[in-house]
Amino acid sequence: MRRLCTLPLDDVLVAIRNQRGKMTITHEGEKVTVSLSASRRLKTYLKGTSCVHCGIEAHYFAVEQGPRWHLNLYHLKENGKEVMMTSDHIVPKAKGGTDGLHNRQPMCQPCNNLKADYDSVEQALENKKKKPKKAKLRRTANFFIKKLLRCEQVINKAYENLDNQGKEHAWSKILDQTIQRREEVLSQLEDGYRLPKVEIYEKMLEKIDSRKASI
Ligand SMILES: [Zn+2]
Repeated sequence: MRRLCTLPLDDVLVAIRNQRGKMTITHEGEKVTVSLSASRRLKTYLKGTSCVHCGIEAHYFAVEQGPRWHLNLYHLKENGKEVMMTSDHIVPKAKGGTDGLHNRQPMCQPCNNLKADYDSVEQALENKKKKPKKAKLRRTANFFIKKLLRCEQVINKAYENLDNQGKEHAWSKILDQTIQRREEVLSQLEDGYRLPKVEIYEKMLEKIDSRKASI
């Protein structure tokens, strides 16, 4: 996107408020005209120039070409990167929201991307959190349950070998270590994944049963 120059917020807002149909900008010998009257997007910024969700404030308009010359509103971050501001449809168009000014609010591009077709950013985040988390939880819990199964196998083997002449010390050490390991895995599952012990053991039994069935 080619940029001609930037303009102070008030210069543009005053022009929009005064219902000027268009604005002519001259910069370094180049003269371009942008339309103001037909733009509900620009009129949205009369309601405010900060994001209704995260609150970042716009700093300036930029005269940009793509393909026609138009105005875009930007916030400038401390690291020098720009964040574009957008005109968000309060009730998403996908849900029957209208294109009118009353259904619009200023929102930064990142928040708008998050909101997508939801009624609010919060709702979108809530929904996005739910889905992958469940799948992730199941995958990760299964990973730990496999570890637990391995612990159980080692513990059983250690008990069988405890009276193994000459090696009882080694097996009792393995038994202690594995029992400790099992406790660690269990607490990881309980703390990190909020799975109660009962549920973990139920899952383990299921696995053992299905393994037996497949033999
Ligand atoms: Zn925002």
